[in-house]
Formats: sequence, structure tokens, C-alpha cells
Amino acid sequence: MYTDFQKHLQQTLQEIEEAGLYKKERVIVTPQSSGIKVEVPSDQVPSTREQEVINFCANNYLGLADNKELIEAAKAKMDERGYGMASVRFICGTQDTHKELEKVISDFFGTEDTILYAACFDANGGLFEPLLTAEDAIISDALNHASIIDGVRLCKAVRYKYANGDMNDLEEQLKKAQAQRFRIIATDGVFSMDGNVCPLDKIYELAQKYNALVMVDESHSAGVVGKTGHGVTELYNMRGKVEIITGTLGKAFGGSVGGFTTGKKEIIDLLRQRSRPYLFSNSIPPMIAAAGIKTFEILTRSNELQDRLHENTAYFVEKMKAAGFDIKPTQSAICAVMLYDARLSQEFAAALQEEGIYVTGFYYPVVPQGQARIRVQVSAAHTREQLDKCIAAFTKIGTKLGVLKGGR
Ligand SMILES: *Cc1c(COP(=O)(O)O)cnc(C)c1O
Repeated sequence: MYTDFQKHLQQTLQEIEEAGLYKKERVIVTPQSSGIKVEVPSDQVPSTREQEVINFCANNYLGLADNKELIEAAKAKMDERGYGMASVRFICGTQDTHKELEKVISDFFGTEDTILYAACFDANGGLFEPLLTAEDAIISDALNHASIIDGVRLCKAVRYKYANGDMNDLEEQLKKAQAQRFRIIATDGVFSMDGNVCPLDKIYELAQKYNALVMVDESHSAGVVGKTGHGVTELYNMRGKVEIITGTLGKAFGGSVGGFTTGKKEIIDLLRQRSRPYLFSNSIPPMIAAAGIKTFEILTRSNELQDRLHENTAYFVEKMKAAGFDIKPTQSAICAVMLYDARLSQEFAAALQEEGIYVTGFYYPVVPQGQARIRVQVSAAHTREQLDKCIAAFTKIGTKLGVLKGGR
């Protein structure tokens, strides 16, 4: 039975490997943090050695992934309420802790109600199908996250796509979508490969003009963007206006697991009735919900982490530009160092790791052809010394490989 299929799989895997797209997991042997230890494969015995590196590729924007207060909150709740829920939310998987977290998220975003999911992938996957039918339309940014794309695919609504952040194109698509009954514009808050923010003010304006709702995924923007880290709705002074916001607890908000959809009361209500990942997937553990509540408490009690993240990002971008690097304009904690050439991006990333700097090089098909880059993700947890080491390592290798401005 398996033989033919096995050959087929082996060939596919080989094709992936030959295209240089084979993904290997990189093993970390410490908590997630700005400074970590990773396993490095080697030919010697023992076959792996450990290397200390400064981490610039986690979504740990506020440095909360190993935060003591969150760990304590999780431990205390586990002692009090046990390990797992062994149920979906509507059968017997809802504790007061889940309700409280939903309330805290609504307060944070200035929305009417919130529904939790196991992940934002599920929040997006289960968002559109319950709300829209074949009579309706979704107008989606071309660079939206895979989970939005999948969510749109699972829904019968007519699909329109507009070029990334291109408001003329969005308007064209909205004109076409007048043929349908209801319309939702779907966009990421921050696009993860460039670090650019969606033009939410203009999107909202067009939504009013063409009678559409707006959905924004704040996964990379919440906790990061806006003076107090309340996301793109804060940045554009649009709190409470957007109908639907989705987000994750897996990035700035502690880096664990969990997703949410927050917005208009009736939308959330209907998702509780019909959203499949909510109805048919397990409830998040009480300890995760408790740490989530603590996360929002930390972020509202002081602006220290948000301020430090903004300072760190501004410092890093400015120094890298001054060093002669080609940096994509960013309004987030994502800094794309453009190298254009795929092979160069891999060579550069490997050389950085030798220097103890942990980053990822991205190239086609993750980014457009000829747009290879190294993505640096800055965190509030990075010390000035760690940022300086990173900049120095970039400069050293950039000089050696001739990619600095004037050096080519
Ligand atoms: C990371 C991410 C997700 C997925 O979040 P999870 O909670 O890890 O499933 C969804 N949307 C966007 C835009 C993301 O960046």
C-alpha cells in the first residue's frame, strides 16, 4: 500500500531540499528570551554543541515570554484550577478565568465583546464562514497572513484581492464588490515581511464610502504599534470603530498560545453559535488564560515595555541605516534588512550566527523574487549592549560581503 506513496513523498521532499526550501527546526535549550542557547549540529562527538546567541527572530516583542509575573500567575492558576479543561467552551470548558480574559481583551481594544480560540490561526479560520454566504464578498490584502487566506477559502463569499496597501486598487475592488450583499475588507495590521502598517484610516474611509465592514488582524501590531501598544486602531486614533479585530497571545502578549476575535457584540455572539474552531476544538488551559489576564494588567499599569520597544526599534533602525544598510520603511518592531539575493541572504544569516546573532533570512517564495532579506525582530527585552553587538556583527559581515552603501 505505502510503497508508491512513499516514493512520491520522498521525491517531493527531495524537490523541496533541492530548491533550498527545506525547513529544519532549530533547537533551543533555554527559555525563550533575548539571549538564548541553541544546539548547533556538528561532526564531532558529541554531535551537537551549544551556542549562546542573541535572539532577533522571536515574536517576543515585549520580552514577556519568560516574564516572572506571568509564570507565577500561570502556576498559581494551575494549582487553583487544574491543568486542562478537557472540553470545548460551550460544553464544560468555560471557567470564570476565560470570561475574565475575554472581558480584559475587550477593554484593551475598546470593543464590545471577545471570543477566545486556541490560536489566531483558528480565530481567522473560523471567522468568515459563519458570517458571510455566497451572496457576500471579502476584499483581502494580497499580503494577508496564511490564516486569513485559509479562512476566506473556507467561506463561500465572493473573493476580491487588492495589492498590498494599495488604496486605488482597494477602491476598484470595492466598486466590483457592490454586486454583493455585504462586504468585509480584511487586512493584517502589520505585514510580517516588511513591517509596514496597513493604512487603516484610508481603509476605513473607503469602507464607509462603499458600505463595507473592516476586519484587521492585530497579531504583529497589538502590543507593538501605537504609543501605548494598543495596536493600529490606536495609531490611527480609531478605537472602537473597526467592526472586527483578531489577534494572538502568541506574540507580544506573552508568547504562549491562544487567539481571539474581538469586536461588535452580535458578530461575536454569532461566532459563539457557529464558528467551527470554537465549537469543535478544546478550550485553552486556565493557566494560559490567567497569564493572559496578567499580560494585559502589566501593559496597562505602565508603559515601560512599550516605550522600551519603541526606543530599541528606533535606535536599531537608525544605527543600521547610518551603517549603510538598506532598511525597508517600518512602523513596527520588524526591520527588514534588504539583501535582494537569495543566496546572499542565507550566507549572511549563517555568518551572523557565527557571530552569535540569531536571525532568519527570507527569500522567494516567502518574499517576492529578487527581494531576499534578513528580518530582524526587535524586543523590549534587548539591552543596548545586545543591540550594539547585533549592529556591529551586521556591519562586519556587511563590509566583508560588500553590501553596505558605497561598498558594492
Ligand atoms: C502569527 C499570526 C497568526 C497566527 O497566530 P497564532 O496564534 O500563532 O495561530 C495569525 N495572523 C497573523 C497576521 C500572524 O502574524
